[in-house]
Parts: sequence; structure tokens; C-alpha cells
Amino acid sequence: MLLAQLADRARDVDQAGIATLLVGGDEAAAIYQRRIDRGARELGIASRPERLPADASFGQVVGKLAELDVDPEISGILVLRPLPSHLPEARILRAIPPHKDVEAQHPENAGLLALGTPRFVPSTPAAAFVMLDSYMRETGREVETAYDGVDLVVVGRSNNVGKPAAILGLARNATVISCHRHTADAGRLAEHTLLADILIVAVGVPGLITGEMVRPGAIVVDVGINPVTEPDGSVRLVGDVDLDSTIAVAEAVSPVPGGVGPITDAWVLHNAILAAQRSAGAARHADGTHLIETLGRFGVLRP
Ligand code: NAP
Repeated sequence: MLLAQLADRARDVDQAGIATLLVGGDEAAAIYQRRIDRGARELGIASRPERLPADASFGQVVGKLAELDVDPEISGILVLRPLPSHLPEARILRAIPPHKDVEAQHPENAGLLALGTPRFVPSTPAAAFVMLDSYMRETGREVETAYDGVDLVVVGRSNNVGKPAAILGLARNATVISCHRHTADAGRLAEHTLLADILIVAVGVPGLITGEMVRPGAIVVDVGINPVTEPDGSVRLVGDVDLDSTIAVAEAVSPVPGGVGPITDAWVLHNAILAAQRSAGAARHADGTHLIETLGRFGVLRP
């Protein structure tokens, strides 16, 4: 459905295209690269799944980013993680051209997001709020005020998910608590999660959050995607939230698989189209789709 919404917008821009750069052979990153490639093709925008070997040098990676910077077919660039350990991640993220940095990984874009004037909103936290907004509307709440003063607890503080989710919550006037490994090590995780009207969990530990840690009536967004091997050797994906115990107390819980994941993919492509519209000077011509409404609230469509 989201891709169908985007397809109309993709037709309006000549030069939208996404490049994904995978260094090495991480299997989860390779799967993600294929998904983005498929989505871009479905939308009819250019797709460039780039690969460099695991022993690629810093110079090779930066050289590839410089090539993509001047490539007129490519409006968005995504560097896939994890990067091989010999590569300096922070320096590589600084080499992404900011106007094509669809995951807001460059410090300039991370800073703009923190200041409340984002150029791009990173896909996974954006997807969490697309889902929350949609749920608020479905349940008759006013999206404009649904977050005002509510307790939003975010578990996980990674630069790509937890931290920007907390920033987006603040931008929506929620009261935000950010929890992480040290909160858990101090034995105080449940104390905080039990406060949450809205709980966003992005950790990478299967079933970390159980029903006893959730306030009755809370809305829970499970960002975690964790492969778990069954006794028969099959692998299934589970979230960070124990669904059975949590569904018994929460108002709503997002599913894994499904839930945040597919929205994340659509958002990356959306940002590539947005970048193309901007470079064509057309970014203000929003068409009122749900995704664009959400972007507008985050301030992305500001001239
Ligand atoms: P990450 O970079 O490994 O960060 C994990 C965060 O969780 C860190 O902030 C860490 O705290 C915190 N943490 C670890 N153990 C904890 C514990 N026991 N209690 C509380 N906090 C704990 O992971 P990520 O990239 O944010 O991803 C998190 C999860 O989301 C993973 O399952 C990943 O697969 C999934 N994910 C899903 C999507 C999607 O599209 N749905 C996209 C990206 C990621 P410290 O900072 O103190 O170490």
C-alpha cells in the first residue's frame, strides 16, 4: 500500500534513484539491499545496489561515495551496516553527501534532526511514528495532539533508531525517557517501561519486554527483528517484545514480522524521491498522501 502511494510521486520526478552500498558479505545487510532494490524497481526509480569486498580500503569506500555524489541518476545513498571492523564508521558516514543522505547518518543531518529541522528523517524511527500516527487516526485520536505530554519511553539509544525516535517524540511534545543497557544493568528498566503510555523498543534482544513490564493500556511499538532458531532447525523472526504476555495488558502491540519493517523500506525510497524533488526545486509540491502528511509534521517539507 505504501509503495502504491509512492508510485504516483515517483512518476513526477525524472531523476530519483537509490544507491545502497554494501561492504563485505553481512547476510542481513545483503537481504536488506535486495529488498530496497526490489522496492525501487517496483516504483520505477533507478536502483544501484553497489558492493565492495570485505577488505575494501577506506579510500575505496569514500571513492565510491564520491562517484555516487556526482551521479545524476542517484538522488539517495544508503551505506549499509555493519561495516567491516577495519573501516572507521564515523569517517565514512561523514563522507556521505548530505543532500543524498537518506538515512540522516551524516553529522549535518543528524544535527538538523536534533534541532527539530530535519532534512531527512531516518527510516526506522520514522516508520515507528507512521505506524503510531496511523493507529491514532484509526482510533479516533487527533494526531496533532495525541502525543502532547504523554510518557513516551524508548528502549535502545542507537544513533540509527533509539536516539532519533526519542528526538521525534520530543518534537511531538511527548515526555521522553530514554533507556539503554545501563538502565537494565542498574535493574531499573521495568520501573521506566511501566510509566510508558507509548513504548518503543529497539534493542535486539528477543522477548526482552514482557507483559509485567508494560503499563495496562499502553501502545507498544516493537522495532526489534531477531532471528531465532527453532529445535527443528528452522529460523523465525521475533521482536524484542514478548507478544503473548504483552498483548494481554497493552492497548496495542505492533507485530514482528510485519509492523515497522515494511514501512521502513518504503520510507527509504520515499526519502530518495524527496531528495530528487528537492534537487528539481519541487519539494514543496506535496500531494497530501499519508506519508507526506507525516513528513510535513516533522518539518521535512519546509523550504
Ligand atoms: P544496536 O545499535 O545494537 O542498539 C541496541 C540498543 O539497545 C543500544 O542502545 C543498547 O544500549 C540497548 N540495549 C542492549 N541491551 C539492552 C538491554 N538488555 N536493556 C535495555 N537496552 C539494551 O541496535 P539497533 O540498530 O538500534 O537495532 C535494534 C533492533 O531493531 C534490532 O533487533 C534490529 O534488528 C532492529 N531493527 C529493525 C529495523 C526495522 O526496519 N524494523 C531497522 C533497524 C533495526 P547501549 O547503548 O547502552 O549499548
